[in-house]
Amino acid sequence: MSLLISLVIPAFNEEKNVVAITKAIQDVFNDDRFKYEIIFIDDGSKDNTATVLKQLALEQSEVKYILFSRNFGKDNALSAGLKKASGKAIITLDADLQHPPSLIKSMLSLWLEGNDVVYAFREEKNKHTSSINNLSSSIFYKTINSLSDIELEDGTADFRLLDRKVVNVLNALPENDPFYRGLVKWVGFSQKSIPYTPAERFAGESKYNKKELTRLALKGITSFSTKPLNIAIYLGFIFSLLSLLYIPYAIVSYFNNWAISGWTSVIVTIAFFGGLQLMILGIIGLYLGKLFMQSKNRPHYIIKETNITND
Ligand code: UDP
Ligand code: MG
Repeated sequence: MSLLISLVIPAFNEEKNVVAITKAIQDVFNDDRFKYEIIFIDDGSKDNTATVLKQLALEQSEVKYILFSRNFGKDNALSAGLKKASGKAIITLDADLQHPPSLIKSMLSLWLEGNDVVYAFREEKNKHTSSINNLSSSIFYKTINSLSDIELEDGTADFRLLDRKVVNVLNALPENDPFYRGLVKWVGFSQKSIPYTPAERFAGESKYNKKELTRLALKGITSFSTKPLNIAIYLGFIFSLLSLLYIPYAIVSYFNNWAISGWTSVIVTIAFFGGLQLMILGIIGLYLGKLFMQSKNRPHYIIKETNITND
């Protein structure tokens, strides 16, 4: 009996990549210990990804597709794929071949040795992204690690193998806007990391610009920690103490009739505290926004069409 492995691949405007990655995966699964299915999630692509996927599915029975009604983001695409996958192990990877399919073999052997999660992390800093991006990525991992109670390795990718029992746990989480990179760490089980060097994007371009990356970083941090909410308390204490020192000075000045030429200090103080208060309000707003979205309980994605029949 060969084991069924599911490959879950989110694809957003990847018309030139889906055929190439299917081929690359085919080459990996050349032994009969394993059967495989490839589940592509078309995340509302504007190009011909959906048409190419449907054609591919006609030609190869291993290829399955889920078409979203619009773009819902990569994590939601992963979520849909994990729910529809029926393998004993599920591997998620990017459609652009930056996550080398050749690593799948080693992931599978580590899984057979008894690891429930095998995740890849960038060993070498990405040669194909700018140093600014690499720097901001390490700042992100440092921040999330110091703020939350999960420990993410710098460069943890969405390239990982999950055992069926881990996927069952993830599928049962009612999380709105899931952040899988963190969630997978959070669920526990026996985990093993494996280094990889990202390849160059096969075709097309990256979907993540600075704005998207900032959004993702904020989502990562606010999904796993409420520590930013405590900032207000600490800052409040510090500034109350400092102002205690300032009050005697103000009183002495008043009784001695020292000329008050306080315009600069007043303006600086107002500007500083104005900024500080807005920043803290913003942090509270972020969490409130999360609560608001979760309370509406809308689905995380809408499936327009799929050729997967199981549920
Ligand atoms: N992706 C997606 N929905 C999105 C953005 C990206 O499904 O809204 C997919 C994309 O098709 C690719 C993977 O997520 O398979 C990683 O995206 P990309 O290669 O653009 O990110 P990068 O490698 O530059 O971080
Ligand atoms: Mg990529």
